[in-house]
Amino acid sequence: MKKKYSFFSVLKNSLSYHENWKKMWRSPEPRKSYDIIIVGGGGHGLGTAYYLAKEHGLKNIAVIEKGWLGGGNTGRNTTIIRSNYLWDESAHLYEHSLKLWENLSTELNYNIMFSQRGVMNLAHNEHDKKEIKRRVSANKLNGIDSYWVDKNQIKKLVPIMNTDNLRYPVLGASFQPRGGVARHDAVAWSFAMRADEMGVDIIQNCEVKNIKTSKGKVEGVETSKGFIRSNRVGVAASGHTSILAETAGIRLPLQSKPLQALVSEPIKPVINTVVMSNAVHAYVSQSDKGELVIGAGTDGYNSFTQRGGYNIIEDTIRAIIELYPVFGKMKMLRQWGGIVDICPDASPIISKCDVKGLYFNCGWGTGGFKATPGSAHLFAYTIAKDEPHVINAPFNLNRFISGRLVDEHGAAAVAH
Ligand SMILES: Cc1cc2nc3c(=O)[nH]c(=O)nc-3n(C[C@H](O)[C@H](O)[C@H](O)COP(=O)(O)OP(=O)(O)OC[C@H]3O[C@@H](n4cnc5c(N)ncnc54)[C@H](O)[C@@H]3O)c2cc1C
Repeated sequence: MKKKYSFFSVLKNSLSYHENWKKMWRSPEPRKSYDIIIVGGGGHGLGTAYYLAKEHGLKNIAVIEKGWLGGGNTGRNTTIIRSNYLWDESAHLYEHSLKLWENLSTELNYNIMFSQRGVMNLAHNEHDKKEIKRRVSANKLNGIDSYWVDKNQIKKLVPIMNTDNLRYPVLGASFQPRGGVARHDAVAWSFAMRADEMGVDIIQNCEVKNIKTSKGKVEGVETSKGFIRSNRVGVAASGHTSILAETAGIRLPLQSKPLQALVSEPIKPVINTVVMSNAVHAYVSQSDKGELVIGAGTDGYNSFTQRGGYNIIEDTIRAIIELYPVFGKMKMLRQWGGIVDICPDASPIISKCDVKGLYFNCGWGTGGFKATPGSAHLFAYTIAKDEPHVINAPFNLNRFISGRLVDEHGAAAVAH
């Protein structure tokens, strides 16, 4: 039965001190075989299982997660959502996702706290101005809400910003009002809950060690809980995808690097939109609890430590304090890192590969949270039909052979 969250269910459960809520999902032992196995219990993997069950009527599915749900980048990101990408292919992909975000709380009957407070991308020099204005025009042609705001308009939207008295003065920005943030854990939990209700087995604390193939076809996965047979395996393991792919003899064009974020002590509301800057490499929003959520850049080298280098954080904080001197005396509470998987063209891969029945959803780099519902929706389609949806067709693996890259470095330098 579908778990309903409503005013009355909250009231009813308050009478028993909220101790009698049903578990959101089961914790079954893995079966010997499944029709489809999804590796990775982040938002993309769980969402894929949800859409496979809901839209394609497939039920014999397992999501296999080596840790806990959402413990990868889904639970580590700064949750910025936008669709103002330059190229048509990316604009269609991220806009597809943004449209799904707009109805996701209702669809999943779970408050994912999607807050469309707008996203601003700052320009600090003539090059930035030209690049951002070009992007705004491209967005408009794709029907995406994006416009150029000058310094005075920025001052009205974010009065605490120092626009003039700094090394890289603020000259203007792009603004996407429909962009914003959402609650990352809630996204993973609600997809998991609704997938579980439709019979999907969600198996945590189970690491996939190897993808087993024979005669060019996938046969299943070797896990820490034994071998599980399946002739369709979808991998959505973010920073660890290339390692898994290698076990199936596939070499993916991915670099895995730590990306960091940090949050401050909570303060009263001071900034009610998301502000990003590629040039000084820093971005900030304020959580509903009042913490500043600050994102930094990636380390300059590959690594699998979920920490990141101190120099990166230092540069980011320096830029934040220059842009917002009022934050100068604030205390930072927590800092962490996640391992992001980056493609040479800074665009993702949602694709089949040379091994029949093996599919990859990866390469989201520093900006895949915003894509969660869209990516999951398209990955489910690709696995169910064994062919790409028209929206994810350009994001195939073959582009690294044909040269038809979707170069989003301009939009993705601080993609979050
Ligand atoms: C600090 C930081 C800030 C970011 N900010 C933003 C932002 O503001 N906006 C935005 O759009 N994106 C942002 N991102 C990127 C975004 O978080 C990711 O692109 C997105 O969450 C990827 O989701 P996913 O489900 O593919 O991966 P994940 O959530 O990482 O899920 C993959 C799962 O696979 C599991 N796994 C790995 N190997 C195995 C294995 N062998 N067996 C079983 N399970 C395995 C992992 O444990 C993990 O839970 C940020 C990332 C970081 C690190």
